[in-house]
Amino acid sequence: MSYRIPFNRPCLAGNEYKYIAQAIANGHASGDGPFTRKCHELLETELGVPRVLLTTSCTDALEMAALLLDCGPGDEVIVPSFTFVSTANAFALRGARLVFADIRPDTLNLDEICLESLITPRTKAVVVVHYAGVSCEMDSILAIASRHGVRVVEDNAHGLFSRYKGAYTGTLGCLATQSFHETKNFICGEGGALIVNEPELIERALVLREKGTNRARFFRGEVDKYTWVDLGSSYLPSDLLAAFLYAQLEARDAIQEKRHRVWNRYYESLADWAVLNDVKLPEIPPECEQAYHMFYLLLPSLEHRELLISQLKARSILSVFHYTPLHLSEAGRRFAAGPSHCPVTEDVSGRLLRLPFYNDLTESDQDEVTGAIRSSRFQALTRQAV
Ligand SMILES: *Cc1c(COP(=O)(O)O)cnc(C)c1O
Repeated sequence: MSYRIPFNRPCLAGNEYKYIAQAIANGHASGDGPFTRKCHELLETELGVPRVLLTTSCTDALEMAALLLDCGPGDEVIVPSFTFVSTANAFALRGARLVFADIRPDTLNLDEICLESLITPRTKAVVVVHYAGVSCEMDSILAIASRHGVRVVEDNAHGLFSRYKGAYTGTLGCLATQSFHETKNFICGEGGALIVNEPELIERALVLREKGTNRARFFRGEVDKYTWVDLGSSYLPSDLLAAFLYAQLEARDAIQEKRHRVWNRYYESLADWAVLNDVKLPEIPPECEQAYHMFYLLLPSLEHRELLISQLKARSILSVFHYTPLHLSEAGRRFAAGPSHCPVTEDVSGRLLRLPFYNDLTESDQDEVTGAIRSSRFQALTRQAV
């Protein structure tokens, strides 16, 4: 079924077709061509990081992170239960065991207060997710991790250009991953990036990304032929996709400005309704500048959510929810190091609803969404429940 107001719509920034045509004319359609280099330079300069490597997806960037940190059998990796599958799967693929952390009820980010109790002598890494592009409490997380010799990886799929105490998220862990999937802020269909913040990890990252070969050293003239030197896979996106992405990254301020406006309009239109109806809107701690990735409602109950979804659907508006707690999933149970205790995740997972959110969502369409929410028979259910 197609909706008049969809949940997401891929939006162009302007130069996508032109750059893709240029990429084809350049005669370099495979990975690491001129547009890939432009994306690398733009992100390295803007974020102020030593190395950015485009990948075919955030999932692949996470798999590279698991390889780079040598996560394997006998190791444990702490991940939030409230996240997308790839955050955990990348480490399970290497044979590491997962330890699921619960989230904070305000930001829905990994709860730093329970982090230390999850660390064991086998803990190799903690993967944090800056949910909805609002940073985790990184000072605490980095301090706890460093005290125990545990590496921090940031799954920053939601958070490109968000900040924590002035610093960009994605620049704080030893590695960070980005997604350019069409549901994210900056898109190229399918794509991602690995941010390497520790210079010692760069050389091996280049090898892993090039099918385990020392091709990068060969091109720098440091070896006279290139050979297989390590594990790896094919993690390079085509330069055609990098051309698409470059058009988006170049327009980053305009894109973020549009998303900022959409987010604010939702917040302002729903603030009083939310208070009256026992609904919680997203909470942004003062030390965080968010990335405007999504707008969600935390409803009083699963029944409220089902009612609202169906009432929006009746007006041809698509709203969606996520995430099914990973610690309760079939694979989550199989790859967990032991039993998990994530009551906040379980509670939030049944009550969260995401509203249509994309760069070109018009004010009138957005007002239709908020109007439908405000006029829903939602209040009756709240009164009944009391
Ligand atoms: C979207 C997403 C991913 C996966 O990104 P892909 O680029 O589709 O592989 C991973 N983690 C989080 C938190 C995400 O939202």
